Amino acid sequence: MNHKLKLDGNIDNHMQHHRIRIPIKPIYRDDILANNVEKFIYSLPGIVHAKANPITAKILVIYDAQKLSTYIIKTKVNIFIKSYTEKKTTGNRAMDMQTFKTEFAALPLPSVEISKNDISTPYHALDTLQIEKQFATNSAFGLSWPAAAQKLTYAGLNVISENTRQSILSIFVNSFKEFTVKMLLGLSSISMLLGQIPEAVAILGIVLIQTTLSSIQQYKSQHSLYGLKKLMVDKATVIRGKSTHQIESKYLVPGDIALLEAGDKVPADVRIIDCTNLKVNESSFTGETFADKKHHQKCPIQTELANRHNMLYMGSTILEGRAKTIVVQTGTQTEMGTIAGMLQNITLTPTPLENKVAMLTKKMAKICLALCIPFSIGGVFLGKNFIHILTTAVGFSLGALPESLPAVMNTSIAMGVHRASKQNIIVRNTQALEALGCASVICCDKTGTLTSNEMTVKYAYVNGQYYHLTGTGYAPTGNVYCMNAAHHNVSDINKLLEIGAICNNACFAQDNGNWTVQGDPTEGALLTAAYKAGVDVANLQKNTNRLKEIPFNSDNRYMTVVTKNSHGYSAYCKGSLDTIIDKCTTIYTDGDEYFFTQIDRQRIRSEGEQLAAKGLRVLALAYKHPTHPENIDNNYVFLGLVAMKDPPRLEVKRSIAKCNKAGIKIIMITGDHPQTASAIAKNVGILTDGQLLCGNELHAMTDAALDARIDDIAVFARTSPKQKHRIVSALKKAGHVVVMTGDGVNDAIAMKEADVGIAMGNIGSDIAKDVADITLVDDNFKNIVRAIEEGRAISANIKNTMRYLLSGNLAEMLLLGFSALLTKRLPLLAIHILWVNAICETVMGVPIAIHPPAKNVLESLPVCKDTPLLDKSLKADIFKKGLSISAATFGVYYTALRLHMGIPKARTMTFAALVATQLVNAHNCYTKKKKKFSKYMHLAASISFGMLVLILYNPLLNVLFKTMPLRVFDWALLSYAAALVRGNTF
Ligand code: ADP
Ligand code: MG
Repeated sequence: MNHKLKLDGNIDNHMQHHRIRIPIKPIYRDDILANNVEKFIYSLPGIVHAKANPITAKILVIYDAQKLSTYIIKTKVNIFIKSYTEKKTTGNRAMDMQTFKTEFAALPLPSVEISKNDISTPYHALDTLQIEKQFATNSAFGLSWPAAAQKLTYAGLNVISENTRQSILSIFVNSFKEFTVKMLLGLSSISMLLGQIPEAVAILGIVLIQTTLSSIQQYKSQHSLYGLKKLMVDKATVIRGKSTHQIESKYLVPGDIALLEAGDKVPADVRIIDCTNLKVNESSFTGETFADKKHHQKCPIQTELANRHNMLYMGSTILEGRAKTIVVQTGTQTEMGTIAGMLQNITLTPTPLENKVAMLTKKMAKICLALCIPFSIGGVFLGKNFIHILTTAVGFSLGALPESLPAVMNTSIAMGVHRASKQNIIVRNTQALEALGCASVICCDKTGTLTSNEMTVKYAYVNGQYYHLTGTGYAPTGNVYCMNAAHHNVSDINKLLEIGAICNNACFAQDNGNWTVQGDPTEGALLTAAYKAGVDVANLQKNTNRLKEIPFNSDNRYMTVVTKNSHGYSAYCKGSLDTIIDKCTTIYTDGDEYFFTQIDRQRIRSEGEQLAAKGLRVLALAYKHPTHPENIDNNYVFLGLVAMKDPPRLEVKRSIAKCNKAGIKIIMITGDHPQTASAIAKNVGILTDGQLLCGNELHAMTDAALDARIDDIAVFARTSPKQKHRIVSALKKAGHVVVMTGDGVNDAIAMKEADVGIAMGNIGSDIAKDVADITLVDDNFKNIVRAIEEGRAISANIKNTMRYLLSGNLAEMLLLGFSALLTKRLPLLAIHILWVNAICETVMGVPIAIHPPAKNVLESLPVCKDTPLLDKSLKADIFKKGLSISAATFGVYYTALRLHMGIPKARTMTFAALVATQLVNAHNCYTKKKKKFSKYMHLAASISFGMLVLILYNPLLNVLFKTMPLRVFDWALLSYAAALVRGNTF
């Protein structure tokens, strides 16, 4: 379905004739099919000319724009080709033209004229009713499921294009562009020219094995990272088969009725049917960040893309309000689809760590070059063969360079990301995972992250009486009773809960017998409560005629709905107590409305505080009957309160304790009441000796005052999302590495400012997920802690890998140095060094690099992010290890010489000793506790050792590597050397 339309541009003005060329691969060299397609196109009404060319695999069509559109021609041709090829494969070549005509004649044709500079169907200039008709859909009921399925077969999936992954072959080929590989190949050809065939073959062999190994490693890393893409499914809310559903965006088809709200990404090109307060960010199209408010009225056909106020395009985001829309273009047909390269991928930019390693490698290359030059000159003076010196020098420099480091490190990071994904943590930016390892503060939301976001109304307060609601979850089973039984008043409590249900956008869904809500859990809880009181919610919602809505947002903390019936207008408002109380001038008492006195206000406030102190979320409800639907800002009648429970998540307390132990401070930031926040913060262990600061106090503070107190504050309550940014900046100024969680549109700036932004995958909006470095699929705080563990594990693994590889390189350099000084003969050939460096170390490095987080990884304090890669203690350790390996191997070499074993045998012994000691060294570098080794470690050790045995005992390899078989006594000597390294005896 990827046939893109190429427009030839020549449009005949007078006749309204358009020309298009449709590329269709299947007709290539298939004259019969080409002929059939041509005939089929002629059968469409409004075709002037059609010519299929089986050589270019294109069809030229000239058509009457008043009768046809490119969309329709293309769709029909695609369906034709599709069923033609299907029939062909089932053996039935005969094409039943009649079936086709009848089957697709139903597709309605646009009845508008198409202007010359706009050849795509001008949905912005159509009435929504016309569009509904064209797509055979209905704005109230949506498409039926079978109709959607059928549309999907010819519209194709709503995806732009899958990112093509590099094949293992192309990775392999690319690796030959690397400098070290080129150098080795050059070396091999020189040896070949000089007639040293075995040497040349051996070097070539090593190069091939090493590039193959690292290509496999790279491919696997890529593989696990791309696997993440599958986890990042975009969802869209649609009306299908008369009810609202969340579906994966890729299944959207033209004609779907899509519902959008603040924070959503527009999933396809859509035409607005209806919208409230809609504000859209269309920067990806128009370059403007804040577009004007949108509305649903038709616009003139010539309107430019940027000014079509009734259209929304794929890739834009909704900043405010909500909209009901009809999908008109999907996938590659969308405006976005036609702009190539605007895909969002998982970006794998080099992380600071990778950069640091690259710098380190460069530095080491320079050092070794500096050592090689005098060494070579010395060799020439000693009358050595020049080629021999060259090979040795190259071998020496390769010995000094940690060639396997980049590949092994990549594996380490990719494995960390992969392990994280298994815990429902999606890492989009690998750098973030690393930074997480250094995190010292986590700022997180209360609702949904620390709590389960499953709200249940527990108490209601109306007309001076408390009501208690029984039951748990969203299931509408439970009772409502007045705590002062004598004063139970059904009409009071029902009035309160009815308003909660009207001023509401949530709806119920039953999932395998479980009751769940679609929409805001706070509102879902209100629906459940209304059901429990016996309110017929379905009927109530059906019979209210909603005129207008001011949607809830965390800055204003209230929501208003205006309705109209035969008696006139009504406005209903719900929100935080402090906002609502200020909007009221009267109070509902005993069926009447009275002046809202200061004493009443004081009483209500103190009731609200008492409920909040129990950790409950408190909402106030009010109503009025305005004479005009715009007059809804204040003068409300105060009705009552509801208090809902949102228990902390189960594992949160333990995770927080873990963080405290790891030196990571948790800060709760919430829009909720300070009492509610403090009750929950105390419960989970966030508020122990710290302080609580309210949004208005924060507002009144200067930056300097905030900086002075920032380290003492554990909870920010009644904050607006905009204040999060200030909090993050202050923390960063205080030297913290800040992690920030978020879910809404307004959190985006703060998440960007933080060192690591984490989005909530479940309740989070698309915008939050777009800016986040990490997304938690299940919003669970526990997983933030898991991600930190992974971050720390990666740093630890990389350190250990460097410990292993660099100590090996150092050992080789020292060994060559000692020998040059003390024996004047080199203990190893270049090929031996190459083998150890390029093959053994790559094989043995992997298990070190992919070690899962140790149990105690959170028992130490976070490392400062500016700590250099090679800190003092690591350097000292590398030096110690390098020295011990070189001493052991030199010992073997020296002993072999003293025992007059001869130079070839002595070199074989040294080579074997180097492989064996590096094996032991890998174990030493593996874990600090030296306890358990993974199966990978065992496997790698066996491979490494097996290959050594082959090189020692296979006659052909003996020639290539200039080695000879060893005897039992020799092995005893080697074992002794390895044991010394194992025990770090030196
Ligand atoms: P948080 O998510 O940090 O808990 P919010 O900003 O979502 O805080 O909510 C702040 C306050 O706004 C709540 O205490 C509640 O009183 C009110 N509120 C929350 N959700 C809604 C809603 N859907 N409609 C009206 N008011 C709400
Ligand atoms: Mg919230």
